[in-house]
Amino acid sequence: MKITEVRAVYPNYRYVVPSWRTHFWQIVVRVETDAGTVGLGYGGGGVAGVEIVNRHFRELLLDRDINSLADIAATWDYLYEQSLPYGRKGLAMMALSGVDLALHDLLAKAENRPVYELLGGAQNSSILAYATGPDSEAYRELGFRAHKFPHRWAGDADYETAAAAAAKARQLYGPDARIMVDCYMSWDAEVTTRMADILSEYNLYWYEDVLTPDDLAGQAALRAVAEPTLIAGGEHEFTHFGFADIARADALGLWQPDITWCGGITAGLRIIDLARDAGIPVSPHRGAEVWGLHLIAASDWADFAECHSDHIRSPRDQLWLDEPEPEDGYIAPSDEPGFGVTLNEEML
Ligand SMILES: [Mg+2]
Repeated sequence: MKITEVRAVYPNYRYVVPSWRTHFWQIVVRVETDAGTVGLGYGGGGVAGVEIVNRHFRELLLDRDINSLADIAATWDYLYEQSLPYGRKGLAMMALSGVDLALHDLLAKAENRPVYELLGGAQNSSILAYATGPDSEAYRELGFRAHKFPHRWAGDADYETAAAAAAKARQLYGPDARIMVDCYMSWDAEVTTRMADILSEYNLYWYEDVLTPDDLAGQAALRAVAEPTLIAGGEHEFTHFGFADIARADALGLWQPDITWCGGITAGLRIIDLARDAGIPVSPHRGAEVWGLHLIAASDWADFAECHSDHIRSPRDQLWLDEPEPEDGYIAPSDEPGFGVTLNEEML
């Protein structure tokens, strides 16, 4: 089938957290074909991503044939090369992710099967989910068996508040549960070193984004300090090229690519291949949302799906309807064609 139209839209969000997200949060990409099949993708890049898709990517995509995963991978390479002077990372790659996911949705729908089947079939029928956010108790009551709490080194947050949150989570979820902390780039080497000592009794699974993503050497040096807790990160890295740098620097003990930002499923598959070669586990950022979830379901190397608090608590923007919900702490993609979700047109 040939691509006949491409259109990106920035939805009317009501509940986006004021920050960079206000202007550059997630976009919807719609790809039409001469076969009548339509693919929908979810990318990043906000109002800038919309312009990149509608002006540049659209003219590159029109009349291209999409009949196989190889066609999608070749299209990814073409868009990457053509956008390279301004792309590679950041907003342009977030936008390219939306195109790549729309093409996967399109091809799976044309073949009348779910995306995880397109990728080779389910390796995991049920995926352990974890709840990200500050409400440790509420998530446990909802049935979650694993949990990540935030700790930003700012304001009143200090060593004591981190230890108290870790103790509470460990007590709520039990001795064997995976408990993690997300520092969102707010710790430094000194804080991480002291935290590793103070938090060691709570046996946390990982410390996430302790430093900024460009400080690969700094993170690599902290891996031994944090052991057996892993230094995790990667939601702010892009493509297999970016993760190859992480691998070369031996910077992270667990990788967290965001499939709607890092270059879609095409980049996600390449990143997972690198991770498998390096023996590094992969747990995609926001992996309980269908874009990462289908990849996890089809993968022998990625698992453990993140369910972010904005997907647990209401009120929230429901852009995608029919999203799978975690049950008793586990989640699975539906077997509907494509990604199996419906776009809420009222938000466009
Ligand atoms: Mg994070």
